[in-house]
Amino acid sequence: MGGSEQKFVKEAFDTNWVAPLGPNVNGFESDIESYLGEDVYAAALSSGTAALHLGLKLLGVTVGDEVLCQSMTFAASANPIVYLGAKPIFIDSERNTWNLCPDQLEIAIKDRIAKGKKPKAIIAVHLYGMPYNVEAIHKIASEYKIPILEDSAEALGSSYQGINCGTFGDIAILSFNGNKIITTSGGGALVSKKQDYKNKAIFLATQARDNAPHYEHSEIGYNYRMSNITAGIGRGQMEVLDAHIANRRSNYEFYKKNLEDSSEIKFLEEPSGYHSNRWLTCIETSSYKLREGIRLSLAEENIESRPLWKPMHQQAVFADCDAYLNGISDDLFDRGLCLPSGSNLEEDDLYRIVSVIKNVLR
Ligand SMILES: *Cc1c(COP(=O)(O)O)cnc(C)c1O
Repeated sequence: MGGSEQKFVKEAFDTNWVAPLGPNVNGFESDIESYLGEDVYAAALSSGTAALHLGLKLLGVTVGDEVLCQSMTFAASANPIVYLGAKPIFIDSERNTWNLCPDQLEIAIKDRIAKGKKPKAIIAVHLYGMPYNVEAIHKIASEYKIPILEDSAEALGSSYQGINCGTFGDIAILSFNGNKIITTSGGGALVSKKQDYKNKAIFLATQARDNAPHYEHSEIGYNYRMSNITAGIGRGQMEVLDAHIANRRSNYEFYKKNLEDSSEIKFLEEPSGYHSNRWLTCIETSSYKLREGIRLSLAEENIESRPLWKPMHQQAVFADCDAYLNGISDDLFDRGLCLPSGSNLEEDDLYRIVSVIKNVLR
């Protein structure tokens, strides 16, 4: 927390705006809109997962449809496809961003069309804060006229060619869950350049109530709106977002400076024009054995680290889904490790972590 979160929450109590609407909700939305720029509209929701669910619904995804989704991601990217009765088709990653591989994406689109069903949407993820290859992915999407749902849950404050992540997709989503770069404890947002999408998202998120003096419904609704209390936390957090990004980026620089001499460890570099918020610093080790050696040695010192996201095509729950693979996400999952990356890590903490890793390398 930065400090002024409690001021906004207190205001909500003092004015009795304790509800899923109110001045903090509107204020937080306009904070997000002005931070992202590009004339986007934001709808504050109860979670990033809720935003993905509504986003897919707004893009017309329904029972029996197919949705292409980055395989290397958190399960929340893919679960909402199943909520709607549609089928996820997983696409592998490319080496230099760990995100959607443009070649595999195009192979998949052609193959699905040849099999008789054009994919209804593409879910592209900026994993760990690193932007996906926006130019290549959006070129393919527009060539085949398939909308993109941009999962920017981990990438608030990242940018591609100077333009903020969260502004590229037909619809984008953000997350303010407890582990993200800023948090409202739990929360999310749906973002789009189309104001209609914002309005429709809010309509669906507040039980799809038609305009009438009584409760009139002509559509199925959801209870997905953000509360005015948590939005107060969000307004305070927006004031420290840039400081958090600076801290996360300096964590990355510290690890890199102290470990890059080792030929056994590789860091994910920003390609030219890419700017990552460095939500998590992740390393690629030379082998599964070394990765586990580092992870277990850190654990012995009571330091938590974690393997990279296990690709969705490897998950039991998605075992019957088709996937277009090149081996890259499997390999990254074998050898990759997320290092401690909190915005409040002290230099002493970082030295302690690095010394454990150096001992293993020795
Ligand atoms: C956190 C996360 C989500 C889901 O956001 P919640 O707010 O936790 O529901 C979706 N996609 C990715 C890539 C995430 O990291």
